[in-house]
Amino acid sequence: MFGGASASLPALLHYSSTATSTAPLPTDSSGQPLRIPVFIYHTVAENKPGETKSQEAYSITPEVLDQELSYLETHGYTTITIAQMRDMLARGTTSPIAKPVALTFDDGWVTQYKNALPLLKKHHQTATFYIYPNPISKDERFMTWDQLKEVKDAGMEMAGHSYTHPLLSKLTPEQLHHELYDSKTLLEEKLGVKIDDFASPFGYTSPAVVAELEKDGYLSGRTTNRGMLHVATSTMALTGYLVHQDLFDFEWALEHGK
Ligand SMILES: [Zn+2]
Repeated sequence: MFGGASASLPALLHYSSTATSTAPLPTDSSGQPLRIPVFIYHTVAENKPGETKSQEAYSITPEVLDQELSYLETHGYTTITIAQMRDMLARGTTSPIAKPVALTFDDGWVTQYKNALPLLKKHHQTATFYIYPNPISKDERFMTWDQLKEVKDAGMEMAGHSYTHPLLSKLTPEQLHHELYDSKTLLEEKLGVKIDDFASPFGYTSPAVVAELEKDGYLSGRTTNRGMLHVATSTMALTGYLVHQDLFDFEWALEHGK
């Protein structure tokens, strides 16, 4: 299942399946500097005729996702949640896992439930789902609360993505507080988990956004700026790689991204 990976895998499998920030980490044995690629997915569906280029840029087919998850397996990568990534960043400069990688799914699209969740289960991999509550159980393009609970129960991390997905730069301080804080408390109430991690709509961040995140008790904020996570990366300005319908770009980011 994890071809080419190290001998400490049984512990890692247990660790991955718990998906909480308090899960015990394996001992720091690899000596590798921390280097964690974060991939950013949106919809996972077959391309529809008539779709615009920009829609295609935020969608990959289930076949390509399957190929990417197979690539991670055969090349010895272990998927971790953003919560687990934070633990690693907090604990030291070297990685306790030879090849960690974080997969993130934004917005709560129903195609993630229908097409990504079965593939994550098939490959025994974990991910972080950044959800904004406004369309949940209201708009059929998005998941229902019950579907989100299934995603959570499958070992995925639930995380925040604002309330209504606005451009955060346009908001008054009161609106910003509502978007970040009220969405966090609603997700926590509906899903029964703590929401510690956040991704900005459209990747926008600023000192005011970071200050509000810290005030509201978030422990990380992800942008969509391209780049690898290192020990020096601020947890409030996490970088990543937007995933397009392009296996070559995925492999390039994994193997050569800086
Ligand atoms: Zn989004």
